[in-house]
Amino acid sequence: MQTTLDSPQAAAATEVQVPKKTEKTEAGNYFVSNYPPFSFWQKEQVPVVEEVLRRPAPTDVPLGVYFHIPFCRKRCHFCYFKVYTDKNASEIKAYIDAGMREMEHFARQPYIAGRKAHFVYFGGGTPSYLSVPQLKDLTNRMKDLVSWEGAAEVAFEAEPGTLNEVKLTGIREVGVTRLSLGVENFDDHILETNGRAHRSGEIEKAYRFARGLGFEHINIDLIAGMMNETAENWKVCVRKAIELEPDAVTIYQMEVPYNTTIYQQMKAEGKVTAPVADWQTKRDWVSYAFDEFQKAGYTVTSAYTVVKDPTRIKFVYRDALWEGADLLSCGVASFGHLGGVHYQNQADVGPYMLAVDAGQFPMFRAYQTTAEDRFVREFILKIKLGHSEFDYYIRKFGQNPREFFAPQLEYLAKEGFATLTDTGVTLTRDGLLQVDRLLHDFFLPQHRQYARYT
Ligand code: SF4
Repeated sequence: MQTTLDSPQAAAATEVQVPKKTEKTEAGNYFVSNYPPFSFWQKEQVPVVEEVLRRPAPTDVPLGVYFHIPFCRKRCHFCYFKVYTDKNASEIKAYIDAGMREMEHFARQPYIAGRKAHFVYFGGGTPSYLSVPQLKDLTNRMKDLVSWEGAAEVAFEAEPGTLNEVKLTGIREVGVTRLSLGVENFDDHILETNGRAHRSGEIEKAYRFARGLGFEHINIDLIAGMMNETAENWKVCVRKAIELEPDAVTIYQMEVPYNTTIYQQMKAEGKVTAPVADWQTKRDWVSYAFDEFQKAGYTVTSAYTVVKDPTRIKFVYRDALWEGADLLSCGVASFGHLGGVHYQNQADVGPYMLAVDAGQFPMFRAYQTTAEDRFVREFILKIKLGHSEFDYYIRKFGQNPREFFAPQLEYLAKEGFATLTDTGVTLTRDGLLQVDRLLHDFFLPQHRQYARYT
């Protein structure tokens, strides 16, 4: 995973342990990438997805296709996903075969049959871990099942150390338009102490090759506040990122979920505070990066992204998902959304492959959203872009956020996290940089694990 927190994998982070304003980084997730939280998804609701699949295909809902590659060269110390670092070529082939049987099963259902993908996303794990023949085999089979012809975006996560000219040419040839490089940091010592597999020398080489191949959109990911990060080094990272001139940069604030190596170490040592920067320092570093990118001509387009040319560079996948697009998601542990129902697949390869072999959908939990859930979900996800117009929600959901979320919005305005008018809300920089912490207040009362208004 290149910590692409807008990916279905990232949605796992909705299991919340909200950091308090005390600012020390303690173990837990705070990132909100889907709604309602996973603790409300249930095995008993899996049949609802199968009911949706028996319905006729909708004509007015865009369809995305996600495929999950759970393999990595090594496990990063901050990684909270189930990844496999020991699979050989025949095991990878068996996994791809299973994934394609799963997709074929979906593609035969009335709800999916005949629809074309509006966007495609390869996430992980590390999709670029696949060899070019494996990648071509996978994508040819996918295209036969759900056509990508005319797709607005084909996004692909890559780890710089897995890339060379041959691999990148293969990635380009299968139709990838958006390449996301998991750079995270430019310093070898920091990369090493955080368990990353790649080194700084591989970043620029991979980036230059990729640029020469004409990808429409190259994004690089950075993480503010990794172990051993310093203010001086962060400045160097920001400068180096600007020098590469990527189309977009996504910057995350380091968190330490429970199932990471870092947390295991903290537990063994009886520590409560994670050995990473505190929240205020991370926010300051992201704010510094935003300022520097703005000076270089970039625009801040969300709580995590800067974009060089917002008129050309779009995040089709993120925006379509946030607006309720269908997502046909295949592969172990992947998260999908069909006809208003969220689902997640089995999180381990063993049970996943057994289910596929038995001709079943390998889902293990699902959640049928209500109209109110969908309204709340879209509002809280889209406020991460920094601004919302209330009219949009009145037209789409018949709900006015100004009234529905009156205490929450007024709190944001009072604390200087937002400016509020009768027609919309705009987050301040301070609000934008801690939006995930603030969003938990917008959950419906029955979904709150932490609340200021009950
Ligand atoms: S081990 Fe590292 S590269 Fe692999 S999914 Fe986890 S964070 Fe990403």
